[in-house]
Amino acid sequence: MNAILARIVLALCLIFVPISLIRAQETKYVMVIHGGAGTILQSQMTAEREVAYKTKLTEALNAGYQLLKSGKPSLDAVEAAVRILEDSPLFNAGKGAVFTHDGKNELDAAIMDGTTLRAGSIAGVTTIKNPISAARAVMEKSEHVMMVGPGAEKFAKEAGLEIVDPSYFRTQSRWDALQKAIKEDSLKAAAEKSNRKGQLFGIQNKDNKFGTVGAVALDQKGNLAAATSTGGMTNKKYGRVGDAPLIGVGTYANDIVGVSCTGWGEFFIRNVVAHEVAALMAYKGLSVEAATQELIFKKVPALGGDGGLIALDKNGRMAMPFNTEGMYRGAVTQDGKIEVYIYKN
Ligand code: ASP
Repeated sequence: MNAILARIVLALCLIFVPISLIRAQETKYVMVIHGGAGTILQSQMTAEREVAYKTKLTEALNAGYQLLKSGKPSLDAVEAAVRILEDSPLFNAGKGAVFTHDGKNELDAAIMDGTTLRAGSIAGVTTIKNPISAARAVMEKSEHVMMVGPGAEKFAKEAGLEIVDPSYFRTQSRWDALQKAIKEDSLKAAAEKSNRKGQLFGIQNKDNKFGTVGAVALDQKGNLAAATSTGGMTNKKYGRVGDAPLIGVGTYANDIVGVSCTGWGEFFIRNVVAHEVAALMAYKGLSVEAATQELIFKKVPALGGDGGLIALDKNGRMAMPFNTEGMYRGAVTQDGKIEVYIYKN
């Protein structure tokens, strides 16, 4: 009897031990971040700038990782990482946001808790230093999901968040990008008028048009959270709101996956990208890689849009597809190993 038992135990070990070893070897990610898919063209990137971007991405990943490691919720990790990127003039969010056509910095942000499906977002604000924290305040301190403009600013002030003069967000490089975009628009209009369509190609400026920052994290309890913050797109007109603050579009998290997008917002809105990723995984059983590729390499470009996204699933598998020249991005594993990238590898 004992011999039979021993054989059964041995057989079970032979089956399950290798499976668990394979699992243990799989890299499990606990946080992914992005700093936008509208990267500086590789031909114009300098070694110093590249180091500056990678250093800031690493700092944001490390901040989130330390919180996750100490047992804090994924919501804290994504908020902390996004705040660091908002405070950096390198990225199109918070300080360093792009300018609207009217020469303002109008900011959008959203955050979502995957376990409870609670969410908060703000749009079109010009005085809140850290829009992501205002989005979190909307989620936690109001009965609403989305607040915009002066109302959102009033609410943020009442919630005790830091309010700054709109000039805080201004950077010369973004101002120059606006002047360039306005000039290109008028050249384009003139070319269209005189039917010189062939010239349109030379005057498209995709570089610098968008940016956005975002983070998705998985905490020790298995909860996912996603956060996105942006200045939107250079030269945006009259109250335009992009995908980032729209729950299910630029930002989404549930108990399967968390997603944060970057790119030409109008096309992400029309494809309801972030929720579509979750739906493909839930209803079609696609992996996080397959679901995100479907959106970024098929659906978004099919309408003429471009950009990328980051996604992390409940098992710690991540995907960071983009169809632009680059996307500032990075990830940290369960063991604290940090990876950061800008262009295709
Ligand atoms: N998706 C953002 C928007 O359209 C822009 C970006 O990703 O930089 O507002």
